[in-house]
Amino acid sequence: MKTRRRPYSDQRPTGHGGGVWSVPVPIPGNPLGYTLVYAVESPGGIVLIDAGWNHEDAWTALRDGLSAVGVRVSDLRGVVVTHYHPDHAGLAGRVREECGGWIAMHEADAALVRLYRELAGDSGRTLQVEMMRRAGAGADADAMVNAERPIPPAQPDIELRDGELIDLPGRALRTVWTPGHTPGHLCLHLEDADRLFTGDHVLPGITPHVGIYPYDRADTDPLTDFLGSLDRLATFTTTEALPAHEWTFKGVAARAADIRAHHEEKLDSLAALLTDLAPDAYSIWQIAEKMTWNRPWADLYPIQRGMAAGEAAAHLRTLETRGQALRHPGEPVRFSAP
Ligand SMILES: [Zn+2]
Repeated sequence: MKTRRRPYSDQRPTGHGGGVWSVPVPIPGNPLGYTLVYAVESPGGIVLIDAGWNHEDAWTALRDGLSAVGVRVSDLRGVVVTHYHPDHAGLAGRVREECGGWIAMHEADAALVRLYRELAGDSGRTLQVEMMRRAGAGADADAMVNAERPIPPAQPDIELRDGELIDLPGRALRTVWTPGHTPGHLCLHLEDADRLFTGDHVLPGITPHVGIYPYDRADTDPLTDFLGSLDRLATFTTTEALPAHEWTFKGVAARAADIRAHHEEKLDSLAALLTDLAPDAYSIWQIAEKMTWNRPWADLYPIQRGMAAGEAAAHLRTLETRGQALRHPGEPVRFSAP
């Protein structure tokens, strides 16, 4: 991890010039520390980009942080959410209640929010445990039976598509659809100031989680989508990036190329692992256990293993697309070298 990473307690609301501010909003109990919520000013009012985790401490930090830069929540025009994850969309509903404005999100993530709201509580947990069992999770699936699930975010009022302008009169804030981390992840290009709000798609020191859920899905390929979304940023060579975590940086295109290289290496080593194991086929959990993670597999909690297995499944799916892995349907689904 880079040394520039600072704890939440060192973060302050910051003016970035040109009518753009950031407010750090804590993510309680999460090593990521905080979400950077941005406020963008226009002659027609102020819009937030992301809102932070749905927690009382986060709400206080958002309200007080905005107030420190002269913005009242009740005066906001709306919130555009980069993606539906709880550290980004969690407080959007509370902001909407307070200001009477809108929530905007890409249509693909809006569809997921609809699904999660339907599956809130026990039915969602049952589906999660079942999908883990189908991937060979065994005891890790049993451990999730009583796990707490995050509160689903509010349903947006506006469903966005690629290349649309956000309702921010007098400024040009345009969506750049970057699926991968989620199917509806958006970067937002402030064209009148050449700045890109990158959400979680491109972060300066870490790479976002790219997983596939349910693990055995064969009708999508999120990692191939993600790599394409990184290539999409190749033209943003000098643009200043305003990411949702960590710190701002210059040179979006170079960082996107680094992240792409990181995944290509991971794909190569997974293909080599399958070749070593040939001709045998293994479940997603068994393969994830043999891969390299930032901590030993034995030290990961079941929920962390679930995310690692999601990454493993996404890489296996991409190798399958490229003809470098073979799927063996069944319970559990297994993969081998072709
Ligand atoms: Zn996220």
